[in-house]
Amino acid sequence: MNYLHKFKFFSLRISIFLFSINLLSQDQQYPKSFNIDKKLPNIIFMIGDGMGLSQITAGTYSNGNNSSLEEMEFVGLSKTHAHNRLVTDSAASGTAMACGEKTFNGVIGIDSKNRKLESILEYCMTKDYNTALIATSSIVHATPASFYANVVSRRKYEDIALQLRFHDINYFVGGGQKHFNGREDKRNLIKEMEGEGYKIVNNLNNFKSSTSKKLGFFTYSDEPPQKSLGRKPSLELIVEATLEKLKDDKKPFFLMVEASQIDWGGHANDLPYIISEFKEFSVAINSAIRFSELDKNTLIVVTADHETGGLAIKKGNLKKSSVSGDFTTIGHSGSMVPVFSYGPYSELFTGIYDNTAIFKKLKNAVNQVN
Ligand code: MG
Ligand code: ZN
Repeated sequence: MNYLHKFKFFSLRISIFLFSINLLSQDQQYPKSFNIDKKLPNIIFMIGDGMGLSQITAGTYSNGNNSSLEEMEFVGLSKTHAHNRLVTDSAASGTAMACGEKTFNGVIGIDSKNRKLESILEYCMTKDYNTALIATSSIVHATPASFYANVVSRRKYEDIALQLRFHDINYFVGGGQKHFNGREDKRNLIKEMEGEGYKIVNNLNNFKSSTSKKLGFFTYSDEPPQKSLGRKPSLELIVEATLEKLKDDKKPFFLMVEASQIDWGGHANDLPYIISEFKEFSVAINSAIRFSELDKNTLIVVTADHETGGLAIKKGNLKKSSVSGDFTTIGHSGSMVPVFSYGPYSELFTGIYDNTAIFKKLKNAVNQVN
């Protein structure tokens, strides 16, 4: 090949490359426009526990090379370290994201100087938001608890349950009913809550049909099983039913959704477990995006509290949608995790920042409107 031929070949490759970039940008149509008006934005904050880049990669390739995260316009990176540990647990990182302060591993809603913290959910309440929490673990587990509890140990499930019982969250959905009605102190918090206007239900139909503005849905008495072993109802049905309630009110809302068990798959070094939990999460994220697309005043932020398993993707087959990889730990790793955002004020979430900045950015989004 002489010089001219080489040049022609090279320029052909360049133009194919440019053409494919052009196709991609047409496909995604960024930037999207949202009605940023005088209304306070709704917030859907979605946490994939233990969902690092490798978990997302594995889930995407094994789902026909597709995930709803690809629809989200802005991406940032979050540094997950705890107050005095490089590798965080879900209590410290949940507290960092929910309350904006780094703390010790194991601690929920209390900072390193032993001060009780206000969560973004509670801040939204002061702005007259409706609020909701959804988890595929028990509702007293570290991640959801970071939004309503202040405890020195994440294992104090009975204390955490008691704090939820006295909280004013409008809707909550998750497992762990036994921490409310099978307690060592013999109190029946379900009865206590029902005596004060809460409605507590045990299936999706009753959750949907109830018109109560204070409603709890216990999906399981203990921790819910994994998706592939039959956990029901699906996360997207719960998210859709909850959004249906929230949208019917005149008030703005804050909703936190946790795909809790991506983390448990990581601890088990079980890639199929991670993938099935991720796929369910991806469908639920799609439900949130479809809601935001119509509503035009809903900010969605999707991130993880940390990576679990130190997973690396090593092999796979695109045509067969198969992926395999190796784990380097049965614990968490210290890798940064991605933050995806969509909707009004989503541009606030680009860049590299501490996980505590997520709280500040969410607060900022609420405070854009006076
Ligand atoms: Mg969790
Ligand atoms: Zn974990």
